[in-house]
Amino acid sequence: MNDDAAHRAELVALARRASTEGLSSGTSGNLSVRVDDSVLITPSSLDPDDTGPADICVVDLTGQQVAGERRPSSEVPMHLAVYRTTSATAVVHTHSPFATALSVTIDELPAVHYNIAALGGPVRVAPYATFGSDELAANIAAALDGRVAAILQNHGTIAVGRTLRQAFDRAVMLEWLCALYWRALQVGTPRILTEADLDAVRTQSQRLRYGGAR
Ligand code: 13P
Ligand code: ZN
Repeated sequence: MNDDAAHRAELVALARRASTEGLSSGTSGNLSVRVDDSVLITPSSLDPDDTGPADICVVDLTGQQVAGERRPSSEVPMHLAVYRTTSATAVVHTHSPFATALSVTIDELPAVHYNIAALGGPVRVAPYATFGSDELAANIAAALDGRVAAILQNHGTIAVGRTLRQAFDRAVMLEWLCALYWRALQVGTPRILTEADLDAVRTQSQRLRYGGAR
């Protein structure tokens, strides 16, 4: 399989996994991967079960469509903003239920568990703006400063990475952390880890080369 075919297959497989694992429902959410100056992205408003490799769209870094019969995701501006402002080469956007529920009420997901260090620290909530808008893209780029994931107010989540799999795993981690915070809030006042606690986690991860830490 050449690179292009492999990326298309992975986009389809992970879009379906997002659906079966409850990270997104129906046609919500989208994924992309950057290859040089091209971005392969899932099509707009198409159920993952009905999406095949040939339905994946290709846009350039200005958002111009260069391949694909389908309309590319409405969130092209969000994906391009990430590629313009970070070194990430893959983006996963979900409407995962716990994160989306918290997006309605909180401004930041606090450090409820040490695993949040893998996302860069407490996860910011990007202020609300209309889906597919340049304003939403700008709000997300700002929220991702020093982070590899963000929550989108009254909307969902975004996670980025060097590979699609890494971005996807971070989306799963963010949802798990949001579920943890939600559950903890039901039974008391959550204790929150300090920045010093998270620094110690980073040091330990490097010492043990934990999870591929360098
Ligand atoms: P698309 O189907 O256009 O990718 O949009 C889904 C979505 O989640 C919009 O925010
Ligand atoms: Zn969305």
